[in-house]
Amino acid sequence: MPAFLARAPAAPRDYAACSGCSLCLLVCPMWRGSHDPRLTPEALAKGLQSGATVRELAAPIEACSLCGACDPVCPERIDLSGLVMDLRLRLPRSAAEMAEIGDRPRFHESRNRGLSPISAASRSAPVLLPGPALRADAALLARVQALLGLAVFDDDGADIALALELGVEIPQQRLHGFLDSLRGHTIVAADGLLLRQLRRWLPGSQRMGLGPALSTRAAVRSNLAPSDLYVIEPRAFHGDYERMVGYYDRLQRETGCGLSLDLQRIAIPASSSGLAQKLGLAAGDDVQARWLLQGRKPARIVVESLADRAAFERVCDLPVVHLAELGEDPQMMQKFRHAFG
Ligand code: SF4
Ligand code: SF4
Repeated sequence: MPAFLARAPAAPRDYAACSGCSLCLLVCPMWRGSHDPRLTPEALAKGLQSGATVRELAAPIEACSLCGACDPVCPERIDLSGLVMDLRLRLPRSAAEMAEIGDRPRFHESRNRGLSPISAASRSAPVLLPGPALRADAALLARVQALLGLAVFDDDGADIALALELGVEIPQQRLHGFLDSLRGHTIVAADGLLLRQLRRWLPGSQRMGLGPALSTRAAVRSNLAPSDLYVIEPRAFHGDYERMVGYYDRLQRETGCGLSLDLQRIAIPASSSGLAQKLGLAAGDDVQARWLLQGRKPARIVVESLADRAAFERVCDLPVVHLAELGEDPQMMQKFRHAFG
């Protein structure tokens, strides 16, 4: 497991620093999908500067996919995706909206009463927070575990991740219970939004996204080829881009694979989905997936995120594989299945 050393990033600034340069539009999926000047991070910052209310800014607050791509491009270092998350929490909800959100997420008690055999050996053992999408794909989850040699943490904070997404207040007792159970562990999290918040909630902790954790594995890395387009999970990347830029630079140098990083397509998501899509009220669009392929001719697409895999499968006939599928080693799988029964 690589030890990604923490380096203190420059403190982010707030919306008052927005100069109106419009650079954030270049990478923003909600702008690319709509070309509506109201649906941009700049419109949010400028609207707040002009005294607009949270309710008046509801459209961009709800349409934002929280991908974080605007954060590293802003020359004023405004924490734009963090701003959207704060505003979403303060957004007044109508009765109809409350009915849609209902009791999602269902908060539960922290429930890590003990880890399974491998990680129980040490309180500081690395732990895996797979999130709902990976949990739902049992075969892929088994491959991930075999490659990383990690136990799944009983409580992967899926309710907390959903609350962050929807802008729902997290009960303090629930949050503290979750964070206490993680203290001292190296954390590998599949959910980039949760990972981003863990950086704030547990400063100094060792944590990484699923993509970097898997792509350091020789079995995975040795199967990356120059003809691959490697698509980075955006939220984990942008939530820690000061370190991640160097990591992916090295990955590209060593494997020759193409990366979803260029002047405008800086680790953008393959599908854009705001609050309505997360609530199942509207379909997402695959404008981003098509744009990621524009001007590129990969033989294969390798994704870190299952959501990106689904988007590429909808828009092209290329083989699309998850990183963990590159590293299938029958002997390792057998050993792993034996260890975990
Ligand atoms: S987080 Fe993504 S969708 Fe939201 S404003 Fe920034 S770039 Fe646009
Ligand atoms: S990149 Fe930053 S400073 Fe420029 S318009 Fe966007 S929010 Fe404002």
